[in-house]
Amino acid sequence: MVIPSVAVTRTGLATLLLLIALPACAPAPKAGLGGVEAAYQDARRHKDQLDVTRARGATSTPRGVPLADLVARYNEARERLQKALASVPGTGLSAEDGRALEVIRRTFEKDLEEEKDAPAAAPAATPAPQEPACTYDAKALAQGPDGMTALSERMYACFGKAARHLPFEDQTLDRLTIFSMLPVTDDAARRKRVFLAMAPVWTAIDGDGGPGSPYRQLIRLSATKRAADKNPVESGAGILGIDPGAVEGWLVSVLEAWRAITPDRPIEPWDFAYEAGKASRGLQSAVTREILRPVNDRFYADLGADVGALGVQYDLEPREGKDPVAFTTFGGRPRHEGGAWAPGEPWVFASYRVGSLDNLNELLHETGHAVHIAAIRTRPAFMDWPDSDLFTEGIADVAALEIFEPEWQRKYLGRSVPLADSLRAKYAGIVMDVAWSLFEIRMHRSPDADPNAVWAEITGTYFRIRPHPELSWWAVRGQLINLPGYMLNYAVGAIMVADLRDRTRELHGSFTTGDPTWYGWMSDRLYRFGLERPSRQVIEEFLGRPVSPRALLADLSRARTP
Ligand SMILES: [Zn+2]
Repeated sequence: MVIPSVAVTRTGLATLLLLIALPACAPAPKAGLGGVEAAYQDARRHKDQLDVTRARGATSTPRGVPLADLVARYNEARERLQKALASVPGTGLSAEDGRALEVIRRTFEKDLEEEKDAPAAAPAATPAPQEPACTYDAKALAQGPDGMTALSERMYACFGKAARHLPFEDQTLDRLTIFSMLPVTDDAARRKRVFLAMAPVWTAIDGDGGPGSPYRQLIRLSATKRAADKNPVESGAGILGIDPGAVEGWLVSVLEAWRAITPDRPIEPWDFAYEAGKASRGLQSAVTREILRPVNDRFYADLGADVGALGVQYDLEPREGKDPVAFTTFGGRPRHEGGAWAPGEPWVFASYRVGSLDNLNELLHETGHAVHIAAIRTRPAFMDWPDSDLFTEGIADVAALEIFEPEWQRKYLGRSVPLADSLRAKYAGIVMDVAWSLFEIRMHRSPDADPNAVWAEITGTYFRIRPHPELSWWAVRGQLINLPGYMLNYAVGAIMVADLRDRTRELHGSFTTGDPTWYGWMSDRLYRFGLERPSRQVIEEFLGRPVSPRALLADLSRARTP
């Protein structure tokens, strides 16, 4: 007998009617699951608070609860959940309840481990990892037991070490700093030196570029593994139902569209980011650090998403020991109480020393995550990020990418740069990801090829970049080593975002300079489901069809000079 869950509040009345209609012999329903789900909600609430308190580098919550008390409360709640899980009946559940129970069990195993004590708040307290030995025989490592994991881990450790210690002029810089200098260094000779400062990272991945290169060993193992797993496409793209046979054609069409909107002259590899950085440089003085939050808050308020009312919290101050990567997480999840929804507490973490178009874009993206999770309306078991990271990242960008519209820039920054410059800024990073995806597909197909030659071919054809087969300048992304094939997710993600944005405009109208009904409309169609529905279903119902690259190609072509 299928028994619907009383925990699903939206269908509460229908459930009640169904329960009344049940025959008397039906098994006693789910006090069991109701208890489990309540205990789960409680344990997660304490865990969320614990996580954000640590991420803030604080020793107590904003309401003054000390970390040690949080740990104790969490462990008690976790124990109650464990007991409830041990006594829940595994049979007689509806399909949805069964899935809810499965999610709870999985999360319990994976994310709700017991907290031993109240470790110091700042991750700086963790001991420094041992420096890896980076002079090694990659071939021997590859041929040893579990060669792929051993090699990949060693390469990644050496990549990280190199990336943190890049000598430049009289300083030691990190990889992200080098990247951030390329678009703003006006002197071409100095720009080339900045670019070449990345050489230790290239070496960590590709050795001397010869047949003994660590990457060449790794790609052979990865190609063999993918062939054995019959998994030509990254699983992230697979979840969204992307046809593996179509993907390479999509990538090429995006690169061709980029080629069509960029000036017909050869450039050097160290000029690519600089050329794409024209919009950033043009808006630099308008995007000060002081305007980041006000512009962010104003834009989302104009869209009907008042971050204050939604309980969004921000921690944007740089701090020693703070996670260098921006992220958003649940400090509390929306709860259905007394017939109404109590807001959750999304937390946005980032570190901004300066204002820049990139930083503002990142903040709008993180707020996109925050307003998404504030809008989830489902039972506690499904109150979580969706089942696809690609979808999660995509919906965070639906509003954020308006930053590249001149009309948006005029309203929120007081001035604008030409559309073509803006579109090149918007897509330069994306077409690089697309180029890496194509590179990985081709390397997996011909694992004995010379990666420098494959890269020179792709970047020469589509970016008009002069070939430098003596430089392994493709070797700057950690994903190429720890998750070979993964770059495709970024490419497919960008294609999906353009599609979702286009469909939003088609169904609901433009929202470039605001639309107070936008947030409610988006919430109903894209934000509210959590884990209740598969992302693929949510996307395809929204689009009325599977994802297609057409919208991205059309968006890019707006920059074509007549
Ligand atoms: Zn994100």
